[in-house]
Amino acid sequence: MLNLAELKEILAQPKNIVITTHHKPDGDALGSSLGLWHYLRQKQHHVQVITPTDYPDFLAWMPGNADVIIYTDKKELSAQLVAQADLIFCLDFNSLSRINGLGELVQASPAKKIMIDHHLDPENFDDFRHWDTRACSAAQLVYEFIAQLLGDKNSIDADVSTCLYTGIMTDSGSFRFPNTTSNVHRITADLIDLGADNAEIHQAVYNHSSENRLRFLGYCLSNKLEVLHEYNTALITVNQKELKQFDSNTGDTEGIVNYALSIDGIRLAAFIVERKDKIKLSLRSTGTFPANEICKNYFHGGGHRNAAGGQSEDTLEQVVHQFKTLLPEYKNLLTK
Ligand code: 5GP
Ligand code: MN
Repeated sequence: MLNLAELKEILAQPKNIVITTHHKPDGDALGSSLGLWHYLRQKQHHVQVITPTDYPDFLAWMPGNADVIIYTDKKELSAQLVAQADLIFCLDFNSLSRINGLGELVQASPAKKIMIDHHLDPENFDDFRHWDTRACSAAQLVYEFIAQLLGDKNSIDADVSTCLYTGIMTDSGSFRFPNTTSNVHRITADLIDLGADNAEIHQAVYNHSSENRLRFLGYCLSNKLEVLHEYNTALITVNQKELKQFDSNTGDTEGIVNYALSIDGIRLAAFIVERKDKIKLSLRSTGTFPANEICKNYFHGGGHRNAAGGQSEDTLEQVVHQFKTLLPEYKNLLTK
């Protein structure tokens, strides 16, 4: 393990650094990674962001995006960079299975590993961690890492601020989830002062739908939404054929589950989608209902209490059946 003084000592000289984040990066994954990238570059390090997979267009405007390496596009180069790194920052994940094939490379690399994360149950692959499950986002933790742990708030420039603001905004559901504390608002206010253009960032992320994506959302809501009133549960199920019909791209299904949760009285919402290689579940809940427990116990997944995910090798029909069969067990929690 490294202590903070040792890490600061390492960072005092230019180093080879890789920053990586979870597969199918969301706004927090990419925002926290690029925010840290801008900061470390400013400090003369040789830094590379490597994402395990590609990510949606509505994130591709962020400053530094053009320099991101996508592992699935450049496996050899990624392997070389990971093997030669002095430090690897692991942002917004804490289990190596979340970075697919990169996981084995990171594990095998002699680099010191730094975890900056806000998910439950971290694995022990790191040498230093700034980990806090109360944080609304990894971007918040990167802000704290720079401003408080490294005591270097003065180096947070407009690019760092823009990326970190994006991470905080997207992972806090635009500042509406319960972990959006007054402290988060103070950090956000700082980021605006330091150069993040909040109106422009909201515009870039949220008003960037393709026509197909909006029509797909309409189709899901009018044709595919199922409300199980007895369990205050709503679910939306989508198969491969439907994804193709609407020419669905990476990220196009993100957020749809929240519409199911927005129905009055609904405590649990599920979006169950047939991906090419497996079935993926996204669960959202309100209050104390543990969506992550269902994902962990039945669908090889996990996450936060109110936002969790999992997967299955079974067919879509089997997974939907299994999900519905689970509900009686949770009826008390869902209805009391
Ligand atoms: P989403 O539904 O957006 O894919 O994921 C919601 C939350 O659950 C995210 O915080 C994500 O980190 C977590 N999550 C999603 N899928 C998995 C999974 O397969 N395993 C674990 N441990 N967490 C997941
Ligand atoms: Mn996050």
